[in-house]
Amino acid sequence: MKNLYIVALIFGYAACIIANSVRAEQGREAGANISGLMLNRLCPQPKEAAFFDGEYLLDEKSRVTISMPNEVSKEERSDIGAIFLKYWKFIPQLEFVKKAENANLGEEGYLINIGGGIGIDAKDIIGLKQSLKTLRQLAEACRDGRGYVFQHARIKDYAALKFRGMHICIFPETTLEQLEKYIRLAGYYKFNYLIIEPWGVFPFKSHPEFAYAEKKLDRKKFKKLIELCYELGITPIPQLSILGHASQSRVNTIKHAVLANHPEFENIFETYGWSYCMSSRRAESVLMDLITEIYDFYGKPPFFHLGCDEAYDMGSCYECRKHDIANLLLSHITKFNKYINKLGARSIIWHDMFLDSADPRWEKHVAIGKGACLPSQKHHNSGLAIQP
Ligand SMILES: [Zn+2]
Repeated sequence: MKNLYIVALIFGYAACIIANSVRAEQGREAGANISGLMLNRLCPQPKEAAFFDGEYLLDEKSRVTISMPNEVSKEERSDIGAIFLKYWKFIPQLEFVKKAENANLGEEGYLINIGGGIGIDAKDIIGLKQSLKTLRQLAEACRDGRGYVFQHARIKDYAALKFRGMHICIFPETTLEQLEKYIRLAGYYKFNYLIIEPWGVFPFKSHPEFAYAEKKLDRKKFKKLIELCYELGITPIPQLSILGHASQSRVNTIKHAVLANHPEFENIFETYGWSYCMSSRRAESVLMDLITEIYDFYGKPPFFHLGCDEAYDMGSCYECRKHDIANLLLSHITKFNKYINKLGARSIIWHDMFLDSADPRWEKHVAIGKGACLPSQKHHNSGLAIQP
């Protein structure tokens, strides 16, 4: 019995040596200046990070050991190889092993050990991709040689939020090259959702009048950028406002993507042209066409942003003002929310028009501050009571 115990101990010790072979070469903890430099490169900051004296050179001869709880498919292996090629211009020797306990690493979780080699324990393929982004942020091009140098380190991280989003606008002045840069940066910093809002530039087929004639995005090139989002692990979310910002511009520019060339659409907007009319059946029909088209173009994602912010002149036409503004707004939003649900998505909206602009608690939170409200908004927004 005693002998069996000793044998078990020896086996356990040997397994421990193998598992920790990378860590064993990590040495002493690095000075605060080095740790500070490394941490400064990492965004978002990992939950745990320790840096040690010594550097590791990653080149095509290196072996990178990757463990996952399940078998890694051939497609996933080639996907990971392609990421190495993109990030560092070569694919090192990748060794995949199975490790059941990685299932406990947390959402998108991973543990990186850099010492005599690079070892990555990942919860799943997303966790593995996140770990490679972390390595990419840490990597330094080898001075006067090939490969990339990494400070010895132990980094553990997982996602605290399932939805990590940013909102970017495509103005008529935005180039597709700029847009690509924003998308790639969002991926680099581990965002997984991007609301992408075209401002008078989406090339609608259903209603071509709903964009500046000379500023429409090239359909094929824009589609490639939508596909790029998915490749980078980002779900693109379309935005199309169903209320304010109907001009697809800022209020003080006096620009209007539709009415400038198509005054025949004036009856779907409020009199100022800023908000869509909530009583117009024609507005409802056009908006649903636009929503369906842009939703399909973005690959039918699980969310759709309906805007609804800064609707200064909402409900001000002769038909709308016959109704209680709160009920009118509630039925408008409910109607479009149901439509979005039918498409298979959840709605996102700005909340500022639900706040009472006269209530001092919401100062600076209603539109861009109380001072920005038009008299019509002050009238209509006072006492607005919609339950979320
Ligand atoms: Zn109206």
